[in-house]
Amino acid sequence: MQNIRNFSIIAHIDHGKSTLADRMIQLCQQVSDRDFQDQLLDNMDIERERGITIKSQTICLPYTSKDGKKYILNLVDTPGHVDFSYEVSRALSSCEGALLLVDAAQGVEAQTLANLYLAMENNLEIIPVINKIDLPSADPEGVALQIEEDLGLDGALIQQCSAKTGLGVENILEAIVKYIPPPVGDKNAPLQALIFDANYDPFRGTIISVKIINGTVKAGNTIKFMSNNSEYRVEEVGLFRVKRKAVKTLSAGEVGYLLAGVKTVSDTRPGDTITLADNPSAEALEGFKEVQQVVFSSIYPISTDDYEALTTALEKLQLNDAALIFEKDTSAALGFGFRCGFLGLLHLEVIQERLEREFDISLILTVPSVKYNFYLKDTTMLEVDNPAYFPDPMQIDRVEEPYIKATILIPDKYMGALMTLCMERRGDNTNYHYPMPGRIEFTCELPLAEVIYDFYDKLKSITQGYGSFDYELYDYRKSDLVKLDILVNGEIVDALSQLAHRDNARARGLRACERLKEEIPRQMFKIAIQAAIGGTIVARTNISALRKDVTAKCYGGDISRKRKLLEKQKAGKKRMKTVGNVDIPQKAFLAVLKSE
Ligand code: GDP
Ligand code: MG
Repeated sequence: MQNIRNFSIIAHIDHGKSTLADRMIQLCQQVSDRDFQDQLLDNMDIERERGITIKSQTICLPYTSKDGKKYILNLVDTPGHVDFSYEVSRALSSCEGALLLVDAAQGVEAQTLANLYLAMENNLEIIPVINKIDLPSADPEGVALQIEEDLGLDGALIQQCSAKTGLGVENILEAIVKYIPPPVGDKNAPLQALIFDANYDPFRGTIISVKIINGTVKAGNTIKFMSNNSEYRVEEVGLFRVKRKAVKTLSAGEVGYLLAGVKTVSDTRPGDTITLADNPSAEALEGFKEVQQVVFSSIYPISTDDYEALTTALEKLQLNDAALIFEKDTSAALGFGFRCGFLGLLHLEVIQERLEREFDISLILTVPSVKYNFYLKDTTMLEVDNPAYFPDPMQIDRVEEPYIKATILIPDKYMGALMTLCMERRGDNTNYHYPMPGRIEFTCELPLAEVIYDFYDKLKSITQGYGSFDYELYDYRKSDLVKLDILVNGEIVDALSQLAHRDNARARGLRACERLKEEIPRQMFKIAIQAAIGGTIVARTNISALRKDVTAKCYGGDISRKRKLLEKQKAGKKRMKTVGNVDIPQKAFLAVLKSE
């Protein structure tokens, strides 16, 4: 155990975690240069394309230090985006130390702070690392000062590197073995293995990532999940090398995986403790905070034939992503689907993309919503995140909506633009101070509903990429909430209904009408599009009727061209939903649902 080091790299998004992980993997020669692919730990296509880490990944690196001692370094790469901080805190629970990476040109950002606090809560030894010192705009001295003075970390521990060129990376490995303590635990005590992640493998069942806190586990053991007492026989235990590598045993202090043919989500809940059935531990380890879904949306397959496939896909995704929740939902316009809960808008987008790419299902998502508390006149309280369940307005006493406390770090010249943005979004109780010269730390209470759409993107654009953002749920406050309906030829399209603050509702209705007008193709009759709040029409537009037969221009032309045109129309039809007598293309739903 003395030669094991379990550590994580934490940082603000884009400060270079994945790149540094790549360099370390190469230095420890886990992959030949020929097989090397950038961002090795970012397995999902979406991660590589967007250049962000979504899921934590673990890798076990053998390392021989300069004084000739052999070590096993377990590196956990963590995501940096606000939506995924629950992944970070889970990953940290498997570690004794963390590298806090700070971009030498950008300095400390909101997520640097947020992640540092998470590491401190987990009592980790922290080694500050200044990355990207190769950049011409790098200011390592200035950043070192921030780290010492603003973060209060030990300046003597600071390492400098360029993850891009590899400069300084070996010194970081030396610092890890020197400053991060080895894990503690008792090999001979009853087994306590902490589940910190789970990934589904179609052939082997769930790959359960564990840190062994106490005891030993090996293939053939019967294990028990302490949350629900279900038992399984262990088929294999192993380490995360670049590929999975089976080993004989996993013992106290080690981080690895466990295969036991588990195919049930509830049996792989991160935070649960695994023990041995015939020599159980008396108590479970302290688990993780329950994740909180804050954004809800319904997902429907474009083609009703895909409903079964969607069900299976969601179940599989949930095995990899315990933060995704879903239940059956139906819509008159879109048929059978699922109401899903997400950690934030990026999480929603990621799930949507994975369903479309990995499972090849075309989808329609309804307008994302937060969860509102409706207090009814009969004094009951109803939680509503779905416009379909908007209570009878006569019965409503009052409605409350969730507020967040946002922490935003920006260069001071963008202060005016930021104030404007926060006021537009119904911000309240703004406060700021200067944690360092030229930089403002701004706090503000905002309705969650106002930030789930595009707040992060807006912030990035008004600050030219220099603003950073973190938030926590704060409280519930009174809201003036209405249900906005969209009608096509007099019929409500339920999938387009949304919950909106009265101040925004009309503008959203107008925008929806315009979007639909652009996207719904002209048909043989006139189509009226309207937006209504509580039965009162607040916006309307018309799509005029189509006069000519589309095949008319082919008369006299060759028959194959005509057939092609008809086929094209048929293919187009498949991506349409019929509401009343109007064909609405998928694109139109998407256009309405997009925020800008
Ligand atoms: P992550 O979001 O923290 O995982 O960051 P990435 O590792 O994906 O890096 C973000 C961007 O910074 C990528 O374009 C990297 O190529 C770049 N980058 C990372 N480290 C360095 C460095 O040391 N020097 C320079 N110039 N660029 C770097
Ligand atoms: Mg990354």
